[in-house]
This record gives sequence, C-alpha cells and structure tokens, in this order.
Amino acid sequence: MKNKVRVRLAPSPTGVPHVGTIRTAIFNWLFARGGDGSFIIRVEDTDQTRFVEGSIDDLLASLQWLGMDWDEGPDIGGPFEPNYQSERLRNYHEVVDLLVNQKTAYYCYCSPQRLEDVRKKQSGYDRRCRYLSDEQRADLEKSCESSVIRFAMPLEGQTVLDDLIRGTVKFENNLIDDFVMIKSDGFPTYHLANVIDDQSMEISHVFRAEEWLSSTPRHLGIYDALGWDPPLFAHFPQILAPDKSKLSKRHGATSIQEYRAQGFLPDAIFNFLALLGWSLDDKTEIMSSDELKKNFSLERVAKSGAMFDVKKLEWMNGHYIRQASLGHIANSLLDYWQEFPTEGIKPLPDRETLIRIVPLIHQRIKTLKDATPLISFFFQSTIHYDINELVQKNMDTNSTKLALLETSSLIESMENFDASTIENTLRNLATDLGIKPGQLFGSIRVATTGLKVAPPLFETLEVLGKKRSLTAIDLAVEKLQATSVQQSES
Ligand code: GLU
Repeated sequence: MKNKVRVRLAPSPTGVPHVGTIRTAIFNWLFARGGDGSFIIRVEDTDQTRFVEGSIDDLLASLQWLGMDWDEGPDIGGPFEPNYQSERLRNYHEVVDLLVNQKTAYYCYCSPQRLEDVRKKQSGYDRRCRYLSDEQRADLEKSCESSVIRFAMPLEGQTVLDDLIRGTVKFENNLIDDFVMIKSDGFPTYHLANVIDDQSMEISHVFRAEEWLSSTPRHLGIYDALGWDPPLFAHFPQILAPDKSKLSKRHGATSIQEYRAQGFLPDAIFNFLALLGWSLDDKTEIMSSDELKKNFSLERVAKSGAMFDVKKLEWMNGHYIRQASLGHIANSLLDYWQEFPTEGIKPLPDRETLIRIVPLIHQRIKTLKDATPLISFFFQSTIHYDINELVQKNMDTNSTKLALLETSSLIESMENFDASTIENTLRNLATDLGIKPGQLFGSIRVATTGLKVAPPLFETLEVLGKKRSLTAIDLAVEKLQATSVQQSES
C-alpha cells in the first residue's frame, strides 16, 4: 500500500456530468479531506470520438458550487495543468512498447470485418494475432494499413481483487478478452491510460462506481505485467431510480446543473448525495460537509444499489432552507435569479428589500424556485388577477367593492402600518361589516398580491407599505366599480 492517501476523480469529457460522477467525487473528496490526503482530478479524454466540449468545465463548476476543491490538475479560470490524458500520449507508448517487448502485449492486424465475423461466432477476440510467427507478423506489418495493440491476458488462473467494499472478488482469466490498449488512431484505451496514470500519479486508492468493477481484472493484469504495486480498490454501489433500474435521464434530472436550476441548495445536494450508498447509522440524515468529512468511512459504504429519492432531496432542501439565516437565503435567492433569470423577478431586488420579504416565505418553500411565484408581486408595478377572484364566497361585486372601499379609508387613516395593527384593524372591520374575516382578507389578498394562496397577509401588507397597499386596493375598487356599471348597463 502507498504511504500517502492520494485519490482521484477520473472523468471522461463525454457529456453533462451525471449525479453518479458527482457522488463518486464526493466520496473521494470526503476520504481525502477526512485526513491529509490529496484529491486529484484527471481528465480521461482519450476517446476523441466521444469528446463533448464544455463537459469538464460543467463538472468543475458543479464541484466548486458544492464546495469541493482539488489539489492538483485543472483549475477553473486558470491555465489547465497537464492533467489531460491526450497530452501524455508518449508516456503510454513507452510503457506499451515495454509490454510488447516482453510479449505481454502484441500488435493485432485483424480488420474490422474479421473482428465482426469472429464476434458472430464467439464473444470476444479469438487471439489470432497473439500466436503469429515472426514472419507472419512482418508480412502483416507491411500489408496492413492499421493495427492495434492488445494485452495478452493470462490464459489460466484467476485474478483476485480485494475490494475494500465488496471483499474478495475472483475473475477467471480465460474469460477475459485480450483487450485493446492502443487503438488504430494511436490513442490509448481507457484501461491502459487509467493504469499508467494511477501509477505515475501515485494514486493510493481507486474509488469508482460499480460499473467499472469488470474492468478491474484487466487493470490488475497490466499492473502485474509491469511489476507495479496496484492501488487499493473500492467500487461504489450504483445509483438507482425508484423503479430499481439504473438512474438515467428518463427518470428526470440527472445533472447537478438541473437541480441547481430547480432551486436546490448546494449544502442539501451535498448532504443528500453523500448519503447515496453511505450512512453514519440508521437514523442520522442531516450532516454538514464538516461532519461528513469527520465521519465518512468505507466500512459504512453499502454494497447494494442506492435509491435516488427526489422526495427526500426536497425534504432535505426544505430543511436546509428553514435552518439557514435570512441573509443566507436572500443571498442564495439573488445568486439563483442571477444564474437563472426569471420574468417574475425583474429587475432583481436589492438585498435589503429581499431580507424583509424572506421571512414571509422562509418556512414555506422547499426550493428557491418555489419562492418566485409567491413573491414576484412585490417586484411588479401592476398586480394581475381575474376580477372574479376578488369576490369571495357568499359575497358579490357590490359587497366586495364596499368592503375594499372601507379597507382603503381605514388604511389611509392608519398611523402605524405594522402587521399587528393592520390585523386588528381589519378584523374589527370584518365584524363591523358583518362578514367573515376570511372573506375580507381573501379580497384584500387578491387585490394586493394577485394570489389566492400567498404569504401571510398582514406581514405582506406591512412590507408592501401603506402607499402600495392603498394603490392596489383602490385599483381593485375601480375595477369592481367598472364591472358593476357594466352589469347594470347590460
Ligand atoms: N474515465 C472513467 C469514467 O469516466 C474513470 C473510471 C475510473 O475511475 O477508473 O468514469
């Protein structure tokens, strides 16, 4: 085992980063940061055909947003360190030449057509080129336009992996293909580049998702052929959708950016993902990143798949919102609207105003996105609603108009426009008018917010202020007046 803990995330730039990759990053990061280990990012970009521009930037931005940092390698904004595999091709060729010389790797000249024919008859490559004589090899070298280099897997015995999560896993060597190490375009495959880099970067622990488990005997084969000491391995359980299949796009959002757009907080997502396949005990759910760092251990990583339950994420996010300070939520909302502009909040409010509004919704929202429809009226000069919505049950246009007219003149005369004075005044007014408080409040709510379900009314009026409240109520009276004139004319 290597002395110092050095773990890595080895993303391939093939598209929008999946939450599974982020969960792998989190487990690696927690393991490194729980002690004085290093967490390194290495971009595995040797498959040029699958390269998607921007995917590494997206990934790094998601890691940063979640509060993770890394020790070496690509840095956002700055020049990238040479941690891209495509920039290290010479390294791979040097090692592979060594393997070819010692006959644990060989050139394969089979045409795509031949490989296709072989594949129809059996699974995997039939190892024809492994047994070529020197003469045959020299002939093919001349006549073939392209070749690949394959690893000569041992034909007998077993490869034994002591996985830190799964325990001993045995693989029959004869069932493993002589896999390609260098492709016809001269680029190394994942298997080769991954092993050489883990070795040269002195990676102590390879932590990755379960889907890579079947690659590990190949990797161990390469370590063995080169006489290198392999790192320790742990394969994390799959992330499953509620239908128990592997979580994919068809189940909903699978990238951090999508959850960010839906108004989830980084702390909640981090906490949620850290519990996908790991637990402290059978009850603790809410843990800060510091607590997670302190407590994370491989012993408590599960072997079986971890269910991605969006409802739990929503619950957790609601919890993080409720326990955050008003200032923190105001900042988060401002960042959120900045990143994902919405028609409802335009222009962006200043922080002072927002801090007065946040208490009205703080306990009611599960995501930042939930806030927008509840408070957008604060930032609009005209309140939109259907006039009929002003008229409450067992009221008509006329009685509503009168109630609002009275409300207006009472508000006009109020000296203290705070929530409790407003509440007392309006409750008394309802009694005087012989209507239920709910009827009066319902009409005022629609007139001032345009909403039937809105933040608490009296606090809302206080924040809106006397002037804006009056303007809205007077406008409602005018609208009702216009309708009753229309009604009497028709
Ligand atoms: N490039 C692989 C990926 O995209 C890395 C797997 C590993 O960690 O070895 O996930």
